[in-house]
Amino acid sequence: MNRRHFLTAAAVGSAAALAGCNKEQTTTASSACQPAEVIKWKMVTTWPKNFPGLGTGAENLAKLIHEMSGGRIEVKVYAAGELVPALEVFDAVARGTAQIGHGGAYYWKAKHEATQFFTSVPFGFTAQEMNAWLFYGDGLALWQEVYAPFGLVPMPCGNTGVQMAGWFNREINSLADLKGLKMRIPGLGGEVLRRAGGTPVNLPGGELFTALQSGTIDATEWVGPYNDLAFGLYKAARYYYTPGWHEPGSTMEAIFNKQALESLPKDLQSIVLNACKVVNADMLAEFMARNHQALETLKREHGVQVRTLPDDVIAELKKLSAEVLAEVAQHDPLTKKVYDSFIAFRDKVKPWTEVSEVAFLKARG
Ligand code: CA
Repeated sequence: MNRRHFLTAAAVGSAAALAGCNKEQTTTASSACQPAEVIKWKMVTTWPKNFPGLGTGAENLAKLIHEMSGGRIEVKVYAAGELVPALEVFDAVARGTAQIGHGGAYYWKAKHEATQFFTSVPFGFTAQEMNAWLFYGDGLALWQEVYAPFGLVPMPCGNTGVQMAGWFNREINSLADLKGLKMRIPGLGGEVLRRAGGTPVNLPGGELFTALQSGTIDATEWVGPYNDLAFGLYKAARYYYTPGWHEPGSTMEAIFNKQALESLPKDLQSIVLNACKVVNADMLAEFMARNHQALETLKREHGVQVRTLPDDVIAELKKLSAEVLAEVAQHDPLTKKVYDSFIAFRDKVKPWTEVSEVAFLKARG
């Protein structure tokens, strides 16, 4: 079939589908407004089945796409391991095994160093600042540039807000306590820990509890009280540390197979991309609401001891973070471009955050 014929046939098909939804006809049969053809997509995720906030955020995306498209797109969601393992989501979407993936960009560090800047950077952006950089700075355009060679289109699709520093089976009283510490901490935070003398490992969420309980790792970060309570991490480690220096506002991603996305009519492309924006905002609200309840439960019902990392440990981690970022930037020209954009935006946004959020939170007490 040549292109002209194909376009004509498609135009006729959609005209017929629209005609089926004329007002006069809506009373004749309940199926009159059903779309002529339903597009069936698969979404693979890095999360355990129905995992609070993250996994349910992915489910929410599928539901929104279905609703907003009037049923023209159906998305079947697969938890980690159901179709592909958690850490193969990127490849699965790139090769078209699934059309959408949901996870975190920093899991794909081995694909490109720059991916790490699009989840969260140690001592980097809060959720508010991150969204500002992505949508009103160069962030999202750079992210798309990094993923383009893989045939993928990324979209911000969820944010956890400030995370917790993690669960430790020993107290951290000084820098010496980080030496030899084997900790699950992915991305740039992991490189900072290595620089401080620890051993970072990356494990998918579903493996954390067993690894921590069996002593395979000494510590783990995950997300915050809501998610950490769901995994029962308090049963495997005694100390729960703040602040989440390594992930001050982690963005989750939806990744689309570029060919699949671009094969959609323009209105459906807009629907799937804007559904991601809805989930991006909704997840942050959910984490804010659930984290405080879960923290209360952890402290009152499970006797969890919340500790704050000592000032000198934080100061050293901050110094090492700046070094790690500057070094990662030297890896390749595109990573340098992302780094430069990140640093420039952080320098510009900080004075405003100081006189707005920081000043207000101090005043509120
Ligand atoms: Ca985390």
